[in-house]
Amino acid sequence: MLELETASAAETEAIGGRVALRLAPGDVVLVCGDLGAGKTTFVRGACRALGVGEPVTSPTFTIGHLYAGAVPVAHLDLFRFAGMSAAEWGDVEPYFDGTIAFVEWPEAGAGTLPAPRLTVRLEHVALERRLVRLAACDPALLQGFERADPGVRHGD
Ligand code: ADP
Ligand code: MG
Repeated sequence: MLELETASAAETEAIGGRVALRLAPGDVVLVCGDLGAGKTTFVRGACRALGVGEPVTSPTFTIGHLYAGAVPVAHLDLFRFAGMSAAEWGDVEPYFDGTIAFVEWPEAGAGTLPAPRLTVRLEHVALERRLVRLAACDPALLQGFERADPGVRHGD
């Protein structure tokens, strides 16, 4: 587990971007944290780094957005779908078919989402400070990540 602290939304976007460049189609990233923690900000940075040119905002009327970046990118937000059964979500398959997929509020879809490559947890520390925790099953994914990081390493 890697723990970083950012001092601005731009720094959180930058971490999202650096994470994204380590991912490949088929990878699923769960993005956890309270409202305003910076989940969409993180995903925005990731999408930018993956070549998504259009505005990146949380999907509201649908469960997800599909973007054509350098690779297909999916951005799901399950917040408004909590309490519904997966059958009511509609067809989510296309969001995970050959994409790099980011899922906000994955807790709402526990047990129905594909296994994640990475789990990101964002925590509000102060007005513009956020704790970003990155946890990957495969340690190789984050190898050397902390070097040259734009944020301050927590605990240093
Ligand atoms: P969420 O998707 O978790 O609800 P958003 O990313 O939509 O959160 O919103 C986070 C808000 O906090 C944005 O207005 C962003 O500009 C602001 N913010 C301030 N500091 C940071 C930071 N260090 N990292 C991320 N967002 C930050
Ligand atoms: Mg959001």
